[in-house]
Amino acid sequence: MKKLGILGSTGSIGTQALEVIDVLLNQFQIIYLTANNNIELLIKQAEKYNPKFICIGNSELKDKLKISLKNKDIEIFYGREGLLEISSCNEVDICLNALVGASGMEPTINALEGRVDIALSNKESMVMAGDFITQLKQKNNCKIFPVDSEHSAIWQCIVGENNKDIKKLILTGSGGPFRTRDYSTFNNVTVDEALAHPNWEMGRKISIDSATMMNKGLEVIEAKWLFDIPSNAIDIIIHPQSIIHSMVEFKDSSIKAQLGVPDMKVPIQYALTYPKHIESDWETLNLAEIGTLTFEKPDVVKFKCIKLAYQAINESNSYSVVLNVANDTTVQAFLDKKIKFNDIPRLNELAMETHPNTNSNDLKTIQDLSHWTEKFIKDQL
Ligand code: MG
Repeated sequence: MKKLGILGSTGSIGTQALEVIDVLLNQFQIIYLTANNNIELLIKQAEKYNPKFICIGNSELKDKLKISLKNKDIEIFYGREGLLEISSCNEVDICLNALVGASGMEPTINALEGRVDIALSNKESMVMAGDFITQLKQKNNCKIFPVDSEHSAIWQCIVGENNKDIKKLILTGSGGPFRTRDYSTFNNVTVDEALAHPNWEMGRKISIDSATMMNKGLEVIEAKWLFDIPSNAIDIIIHPQSIIHSMVEFKDSSIKAQLGVPDMKVPIQYALTYPKHIESDWETLNLAEIGTLTFEKPDVVKFKCIKLAYQAINESNSYSVVLNVANDTTVQAFLDKKIKFNDIPRLNELAMETHPNTNSNDLKTIQDLSHWTEKFIKDQL
């Protein structure tokens, strides 16, 4: 039985991961679960999975948890400190990091420091600290199993292949909710419109990232670090049906693709059961019913965030840190209705252009850059 910890167990990926665990009967023991503020769901999960440790966002919620779970032998942590402590727990075989945004980076590092393998849904970890994490992973002989559907697809395409034979990675993207929307109306985009993704059911932050296509840009950076492929060998193609989850082209021009219905439970399961494809009852793909798969070039004028990501990846390491933290902050400001939709790429770019750049990628540098960026964006609001 594998021992599993889930960071962010009440979010979209966390809850879907527990659905996967329910199907993989008796193959996983849950050691820890963490949530930010969804206390009701965390209580239900704790009662069902009997973890050794749980963590919640603040001390007030911790006191409530203590009362609700008084009959259970569960150690309860709280706040950022508690999250960092729980992510350092090396009693687990795999840590599923399903945290949102830059806050997920340090927990990824903590798990790797404890020589724990990571099922990584928090792409921001690789975007901000790809250089550092890659070195740490190698030093501690750990694995990172991608959960992001595109990266899971690429990973599945290159099992048994030699990295030297890869010509390029082709990341597919649905194009988000505004693929066909007139650019001149982008400033009128409402939060609800931006949250309404056509294919994938996701959390709020990543839904906005899909609407700006920053998500695809972050995925390019994530892919560079996960697969050790240069950015000029990573392409994006828009595929509105989200059936092909990504492709790999080899030097002999042969292309492999991974397909399936858009359901995050499949890549989550593969990340937890690699190298096995274990029987499940998830919906299967019916290509005859779908009939047509279409493709188009991404519009980098309309979706400037894609361009910013390629720019960041080709500059020193600090650019990706600043882009990521700026984006976390602008997305939150947009969700809070403090800025307009077009301000997201505009302010992300301004932060990138203005920051004190460096190629260092140690934790202290990343933290300093993060504070600089957050303050810089907040000063613009
Ligand atoms: Mg993705």
